[in-house]
Amino acid sequence: MKPKEIAEQLAFDREHLWHPYTSMNNPLPVQHVARAEGVWIILSDGTRLIDGMSSWWSAIHGYNNPKLNAAAENQLQQMSHVMFGGLTHAPAVELGRRLVGMTPQGLEKIFYCDSGSVAVEVAVKMALQYRHARGETDRNKLATIRNGYHGDTWHAMSVCDPVTGMHSIFSGRLPIQYFVPRPEVRFGQEWNDRDFEPMAELIEQHHRELTAVILEPVVQGAGGMWFYHPEYLRKLRQYCDRYDLLLIADEIATGFGRSGKMFACEWAGISPDILCVGKALTGGYLSFAAVLTTPSVATTISQGTPSELMHGPTFMGNPLACAIACASLDLLRENSPLERIAEIQKQLERGLAPARKLHGVADVRTLGAIGVVEMKEPVKVAEVQKRCIEEGIWLRPFGRLVYMMPPYVIKDHELERLTEATLRVVETIE
Ligand code: PMP
Repeated sequence: MKPKEIAEQLAFDREHLWHPYTSMNNPLPVQHVARAEGVWIILSDGTRLIDGMSSWWSAIHGYNNPKLNAAAENQLQQMSHVMFGGLTHAPAVELGRRLVGMTPQGLEKIFYCDSGSVAVEVAVKMALQYRHARGETDRNKLATIRNGYHGDTWHAMSVCDPVTGMHSIFSGRLPIQYFVPRPEVRFGQEWNDRDFEPMAELIEQHHRELTAVILEPVVQGAGGMWFYHPEYLRKLRQYCDRYDLLLIADEIATGFGRSGKMFACEWAGISPDILCVGKALTGGYLSFAAVLTTPSVATTISQGTPSELMHGPTFMGNPLACAIACASLDLLRENSPLERIAEIQKQLERGLAPARKLHGVADVRTLGAIGVVEMKEPVKVAEVQKRCIEEGIWLRPFGRLVYMMPPYVIKDHELERLTEATLRVVETIE
């Protein structure tokens, strides 16, 4: 594309297109992308960037993947979409089989939907309809931990962190939920029972009002990139059983290997009652998500009046998304990436460790294919991104966090470039 054309497109974009969490009057700069391949994002001016973000956890197999492309092309020859009301098709069934086979035990009933946030809405609706069906209509609140992130739709927002989330803007209008401090015992540290006490007390006091506890298992993503001890989850599972609460695991970011296990719940050896997956489900090709639950929850909802689960988006079970998701899950099975992810973690750990000595750095942590450099002060996103681009890498920091979760197909030398460049960028942050 000619430089003039690129400049015109950027000008139109700036004038007319809203970007995520961005002001229309004073937006952050955006880069014009021509294409992407493997771990490379290629800008329209020819600049090549190693992608450290997997497009927000999703592009796990890299961009322009031949197998995913082929799955999309084949499916397009059949049908891109048909409504799911009254119709079904092989891609939806095949994806269902794969999901039931690979997710934690007991999750057998699947609801397909459009995005992660919508999956959280559906999960909450399931938890509320479950109580409705049992005549427990006072039990309509959710409990969660601080520093969580569950999406931008209404109920999802209500369980995001009340400080870093959007509560202040919508205060008085969002549903009121119960929060306890985030778990403080880190992944890999020695467990201390005291860490679970706030949650234990909350459940003991308020279980009669609660329908479910929702949280991101082991890895908290956009609310703070925090890795906590799996024992917290085991204890939570016990408490949910004891007080008859549903446990909703939001694995939209962690699902499909990112934390070093196929699902982060596996670190604790537990199954939730409701599981949300999205993002990497289609290898980052299309917005698509699924909510899985147990036969017990599904049967209870269906014994209520109404017996229907009251949700049914237009693009539910989209065949194109399902076909690509099947191909993505097949790639996960064939390539067994967990070994590679363990190697990526070791290399991230080695590569980012020198940042611990830097004056502006508060903490460095890694888990699975996630590396985090937490600064002492909030970073200036536009400045840091400019430096990243000069270094040939793509990162999108937020708050005090400069972090990466590269596609699993990243090669050793590419990861080395990514961590070395990140160190050079972090060094220059004041
Ligand atoms: N839950 C978690 C844990 C997430 O990380 C995200 C997205 N960052 C969401 C929910 C929302 O997903 P989506 O952006 O697809 O709506």
